[in-house]
This record gives sequence, structure tokens and C-alpha cells, in this order.
Amino acid sequence: MSENQSLEFQTEAKQILQLMIHSLYTHKEVFLRELISNASDALDRLRFESVTNPQILGSDTDLAIRIKLDKTAKTLTISDNGVGMTRSEVIENIGTIARSGSKAFVEKLTGDQKADSNLIGQFGVGFYSAFMAASSVKLVTKRAGSDEPATQWESSGETSYTIAEAEKESRGTDITVYLKEDAAEFAETWNVRSIIKKYSDFIAFPIYLPDEKGQETVVNMTKPLWSRAPSEVTKEQYEEFYQQVLAGFDKPLDIMHSKAEGVMEYHSLLFIPSSAPFDLFTMERKHGIKLYVRRVFILDNCKELLPEYLRFVKGVVDSEDLPLNVSREILQKNPVVDRIRKALTSKILGRLAEMAQNEPENYKTFWKSFGQVIKEGIHSDPDNKEKLLELLRFQSSMTGKDDPVSLKAYVSRMREEQKEIYYISGDSREIVEKSPHLEVLKARSIEVLFFLDPIDEWIVPDIYNYDGRKLKSVTQGDLDLGDLGKEAKETQKKAESTFKKLSERMKNVLAGDIQDVRIATRLKDSPACLVSEENTMGSHMEKIMKAMGQAVPAQKRILEINPEHPVILNLNARYEKDPKDADLEEWVRLVYEQALIAEGQMVPDPLAYSKRVNDLLVKVSGKDLW
Ligand code: ADP
Ligand code: MG
Repeated sequence: MSENQSLEFQTEAKQILQLMIHSLYTHKEVFLRELISNASDALDRLRFESVTNPQILGSDTDLAIRIKLDKTAKTLTISDNGVGMTRSEVIENIGTIARSGSKAFVEKLTGDQKADSNLIGQFGVGFYSAFMAASSVKLVTKRAGSDEPATQWESSGETSYTIAEAEKESRGTDITVYLKEDAAEFAETWNVRSIIKKYSDFIAFPIYLPDEKGQETVVNMTKPLWSRAPSEVTKEQYEEFYQQVLAGFDKPLDIMHSKAEGVMEYHSLLFIPSSAPFDLFTMERKHGIKLYVRRVFILDNCKELLPEYLRFVKGVVDSEDLPLNVSREILQKNPVVDRIRKALTSKILGRLAEMAQNEPENYKTFWKSFGQVIKEGIHSDPDNKEKLLELLRFQSSMTGKDDPVSLKAYVSRMREEQKEIYYISGDSREIVEKSPHLEVLKARSIEVLFFLDPIDEWIVPDIYNYDGRKLKSVTQGDLDLGDLGKEAKETQKKAESTFKKLSERMKNVLAGDIQDVRIATRLKDSPACLVSEENTMGSHMEKIMKAMGQAVPAQKRILEINPEHPVILNLNARYEKDPKDADLEEWVRLVYEQALIAEGQMVPDPLAYSKRVNDLLVKVSGKDLW
């Protein structure tokens, strides 16, 4: 496989290249950051391989990045003595981008240049960003520890690239960027130096750049940010680190930087992002922690250091205690790792509690982005349940859409006689807010929490109670308002005998659909509503399960009727006049169907429903005319 080849870029790669060449010009300088970050990755990988295979370093042990500028030829060359690539690795890594991130990148583009160039880092389409500044790019690379000769890759980025054998004895990669006319500034020493300072200052390897006199000097600070004292680090440095090293694409909401000493020694630098990444809920859970051991990079996406429900936290953990040749398998059962995970978890939860207390606006932003993920913890981390319960926020009947409430606030507002925490679940605030099930609670100023995330109902059994108060769905079982509902209970008793016959008739008519007809205590303005038995699955949960393709056992619900509503009163009067009245049956059906619609469900037979409504309209609308 040493012949010269000309190959086409794969489709998505082409799409991204088009964009780099033709659409993104305002933040061209980020290409340098991307190439330096790739060089640094290559050095990290080499150092990692050298742990198990020390010969791979040979005599060339000074790992570094070198940049050379040529003003006359208008080129910028960036070299590293990292792992390098074989010919097939070049084709795979640079010619195709099979990673799902690239497609998502294209979909996420906003047309806003600044935002779009920030996306480059987030989605890892880094190498191609060279074409923002380049008319063509040449890469020469030799794989460390391989006998294969060096490979040269060259392209002007349009549709294809060439690949050939090259002369290069030492391992690593040289990338030459042939600068476009309007990108000549990237051959200027002062400019390149300031870009490196701005974006790549904390890269852990020295970056050499010849100064104005041609003397090679190190431009960056090589002491990693996390191993410095927090007092020595500025906010800007933290933010830059977050964006470059951790691919953060927003401003971090919070930063936690500390050093643990004693039984275990490690540095941790953690960031809470302000917005959720696109892949927060994809099947393959991405974690945001990078693991270092004594400043050597070990692993990305380190799932062992934080529980899954904190996967949105980005950061670095640098341990003094773990062995350098630690593998994922070892991490999974390592007591040091266990300890670090516990400590970090409790640090983060503590910090969030503080934020909720002292920076409510920030906490709102946090909750909006990551509330759903935190809820997973209620189920998966029983050890921290008490702390997590305090972090939960729900929308509520007593506050606006943008002011979700805590369980603590709910309990503090509970009516004196109230025993339980009421909630209603549904797809949207708009639907549940108007639900007939809330009528009586509203009338009595009892607060109801809105469970609008599918996960909310799942975690009800895990929450079970808060501060000794059970969670109670207002659409399930008997609504016992205690003393608050005393009056209603008496009315109900009376109504039970008044409507006994009608209830039985209704039950017969709706026998296929419902289990029973009862007198409601929760209604005020609506004629009827549907409720589930206490210990069954709620109708919303049923809907969620069905949407997930789960088999759901058919469960009939109870139709509760409002004994004070004119519709029910009229039906009763009709029934008493003529128990066999043919219209009665149709209208009973309508009452049932309206109850379904009111809670956002479908009527079982829309055509039959609309016929019933039309028949009724004909009857009523024509009455006085003829
Ligand atoms: P990412 O860095 O997110 O993987 P890039 O587009 O920046 O995406 O780089 C694509 C791939 O090309 C890298 O994953 C790496 O395998 C390879 N690569 C790029 N630059 C170098 C380099 N200097 N040395 C070795 N491999 C490199
Ligand atoms: Mg990269």
C-alpha cells in the first residue's frame, strides 16, 4: 500500500469542509487552537503508550510542539513528536468523519459566525478548521513504534485529497498550512504568539515558537491549571480552560477547584455548564471528566469518577495515588476511585445546594438545563436521596412557569389541615393547569405540583414521602382533604342516594370503558372527571408506557360526577322522568368523552363522538326556531 492515491472525502466531511472554506471567516484564529490541541492529544497518547511500552520513546523524550512561520512563503507549520499516524489511520481519521458528532454539528449550525465557530470545538471537527485559513494543507506523519514509512496527505479541502509515501525519519506529525491571501496574519510571530497565549496557554507540553530574532522560545505556561493554587488562576483562565480543554461551548455556571490531601491526594477542577449538550440523553452516556495520573493524561469520558446523573459536570481529576497504567477495568473496582467518586459527588451536591440558596437565578438556569438528569439520581443514588430531594424543583399551581418550587417551599405553604403533597402529571403545564381534577383544590387554595417530565412519575415511589408527607396524585384514589373537605364529604353522602339510580344507569352505559361511577369531591365547574384507583398506574404513566412500546394492562378508571353541575342535575331529572330515555345514553357517553378530552386524552372513536355532538347541536340549535 505505498502507491499514490487520490481519494474523495466522505459526504459529511465534505459538508463540513464546504462550511469551513465558504462560510466561517470571522473567527479563523481558532484553527490554531484546534491544531495545537490535536498535537497535544497526540503527545498525550504517546506518553500513555509509553507507560506500557517505554521503548516507544527512544531517545526522543522531550515531548513538545513546535511552530514555524514563513512570511514569504505564507506558511505556518505545526509539528509534534507524538504518536503520529499510519497510512490507514490518516485515511480513517482525516478522510472520513464517521463520528455522529459531525452530523449533529451540521444540524446545529445557526448561521451566527461566532456561535458557529464555538461549535467547532464542541463537536470535534477540529482538523478541518485549518481550511478556514488555508488554501491547502499538507500533513506528513509517521506512526511511533511502527516500521511503516511516513505518509503524506495533501488537500485543498474541496472534494478530495491525495495520499503518498513520504520521507520522515522521526515519529510524529508535521502539518503545513498554506495560508490564503486574507490569512497572511497567521505568519506573523506576534500574532501567533498572542493567539497561543489566548487559547493554548495551559497545554501541558511546551509550545516553541521562534521569536523575532529567530530564537526558539516557549510561549505557553506548562504548569497545568488545575495544579496551581486557585488564587493564582483568573476567571478568564478558568473559562478558557473550560472551552479549550473540556470543549465547553458556553460560559460555565460554576467552577469548583480544589486539592484533596490526606488519605488520598488529588486535584480536581470541575465545571457546571450553563446549558445542556445535545447528547445529554443519548443512549451512550457521555461523561465530562478527564482522568490524569500525576499530570499524565489517562482517560476521557471517565464514567467511574462520578455517578451517571452527574454526567453533565465537566472537569479534570488528577490523582497522585493511582498507577499510571490504570485501565478502565481496574478503575471499576478500585477503592481509590470509589473514594474520589463519593467525595466529588458530595462536593457537587453541596455546591448545588449552596447555589440554590444563595444564587437563585443561577440555580434556575441550572435546573432548566439539568433538572431532568438530577431526578435520575433520586432513583439511582439512594445514599444521597436526602440531599437530592432538596434540589428538586417542580412547576406548581401557585407559581408562574419560570418559578419552579422546591418540596420545602411547598411544605412550608401547606394548609394547616393538609396531610399530603398533591401533584398532577401530564404532558404540559397548559393541559394540567386546566384539569378538572384541580377545581376543588384551587377553590380551597391548596397548592398542586405539576409533574411534566416523564421521569417525574417514575420517581414518585422513590421519593415516597418528603418531610413525612406522602406524595398524592390528584387523579388517583379518593381525594381526602381531611377537615378541608368536610363539607364536601357531607354533600357527597347526600348526593350518593340522590344519584344512586342515575349512577347505575351510567355505569351500565359505559360498562366497557369504566369501572365505576362515583360522586366527586374534587369538582367544581366540570360535570365529570376520570380517576384511577389508588394503587394503579395513573393514566399519564399509562400513556408514557404505551409511547415506549410497553404492554400496558388494560385498566378501567372511575368516572366521578359533579352532583352540583347542571348537566348532571338535568340528566338525573331526565332519568327520573323516563329511565329508558334514548337520548340519555348518548349524553352519558358525551359526559365521559368530554372528561377524556379535558385531560388531554383521545376519545376512543372520534367519528362517533362528533356525530353525538352534532346530533345534540341539531336538537338544541333548532329548538326555538321551528
Ligand atoms: P478530534 O481531535 O476531536 O478527534 P480532529 O478533527 O481535530 O478531531 O482530529 C481528527 C483525528 O485526526 C484525531 O482524532 C486524530 O486521530 C487525528 N489527528 C489529528 N491531528 C493529529 C496529530 N497531530 N497527530 C496524530 N493524530 C492526529
Ligand atoms: Mg481535535
